[in-house]
Amino acid sequence: MLITVSLLLVTTAMSAVMLLVLTSLADSKVAGIREWGTANGVAVVALLLFAARGVLPDLLSIEVANALLLITASLMLAGYRRYVGQPVPWRLLAAGGLAAFAGVVVFHHLHDSLALRVVAMSAFHVGICFGIYASLPKVADGRLRYPNAFSRMAALLLGVGHLCRGAFYAFDAYQPASLLEPVIANLIFFAIGTLALPALSLGGVMLANARVLEETAYAAEHDHLTGAPSRRAFFDMAERELARARRHGNGLGLLLLDADHFKRINDTYGHGVGDEVLRDLVRRTREEIRKIDYFARLGGEEFGVLLPDAPLEAARDVAERLRAALDRSSQSVPTAPGVAYTVSIGLAMLEKGEDFAGLMRRADAALYAAKEGGRNRVECAPRIGAEPPNQSAGAQVIRLRP
Ligand code: GH3
Ligand code: MG
Ligand code: MG
Repeated sequence: MLITVSLLLVTTAMSAVMLLVLTSLADSKVAGIREWGTANGVAVVALLLFAARGVLPDLLSIEVANALLLITASLMLAGYRRYVGQPVPWRLLAAGGLAAFAGVVVFHHLHDSLALRVVAMSAFHVGICFGIYASLPKVADGRLRYPNAFSRMAALLLGVGHLCRGAFYAFDAYQPASLLEPVIANLIFFAIGTLALPALSLGGVMLANARVLEETAYAAEHDHLTGAPSRRAFFDMAERELARARRHGNGLGLLLLDADHFKRINDTYGHGVGDEVLRDLVRRTREEIRKIDYFARLGGEEFGVLLPDAPLEAARDVAERLRAALDRSSQSVPTAPGVAYTVSIGLAMLEKGEDFAGLMRRADAALYAAKEGGRNRVECAPRIGAEPPNQSAGAQVIRLRP
């Protein structure tokens, strides 16, 4: 008796802790947290009522406690469904819950059998656990992989556990007078029953955490306005591509691309239209570059494209094709009628022994030359040795970068 009551109180404490943890995550706005939190709050009351069996009237420690447990389980499933963006089958849950509750009432007042009450409750939990398992899609990699696998596995095992629990009490000759009797089967199945909520809540907490981390990482690595990768992501990728190009001796091209007279567009049509132009530029660039090329917004109206495995001629072709695709001088932006724009591009190819800062400086100098040369054009940075005397690789850079 003492063991099972202790187990109940430990589970109550775990549910209270889960409630606090989930409350601390409430600000994250991850879908499902509210349902999981409420489920744990309801569970605390239900578990205390179960533990008070014999002290409180049966109506409270049997009917009310079981009804609250059914609500808890339904809310857990609702949380998982909301988390994955699926509709919650409230009607089905209500119908199943009412059926299980009717079982509890019938097997209390008409034919008093604790075993059959357990069967009714376990049948509902089997549906909930398998429902959670089926709602969570498999995730092959990334931050969500582990929490997702944990929750799926917990739901599956608990579903099977409840199935065995229901079958045991339905078919075994043993008729417990109370689930708090310390018979070994009782203890095992009792543990399964009480473990379900903390395990599924823990899965929810891990999933919510992973999603928050994922969203934070995404925000740091992407530009909010256009959705293009950010300057930070570009530099990370550049270091990787540079190391790869050195290892394999492949060409690495860098394009710096800047919208021409962009300030005029802002001044003439307003910032909102300027933003629309930037989005259009990003959309078109994405359509034009190869899959292996890496494109990012470096700041303001300036963008960078890394061209791995590209010899000079191929890089020049990409740059010219991109410039032509972004030449909207005779065709206005679809989302901003009457507005046209062009871009200038500076291209530099990685030289032996050069670091990324050096490559950036030469591409920037080429971009400056393209602006000086009349805009809406591509300029290619000269090779380091081929530059005029007195001018080192970075000496031409006189533009202020945004
Ligand atoms: P150039 O052809 O020499 O590049 O001239 P420009 O006018 O494009 O260059 P300048 O550096 O003078 O102006 C860039 C402008 O881009 C100024 C800034 O307000 C604007 N800008 C920077 N970021 C954004 C943005 O996110 N949205 C909008 N609408 N404008 C931006
Ligand atoms: Mg500009
Ligand atoms: Mg600029």
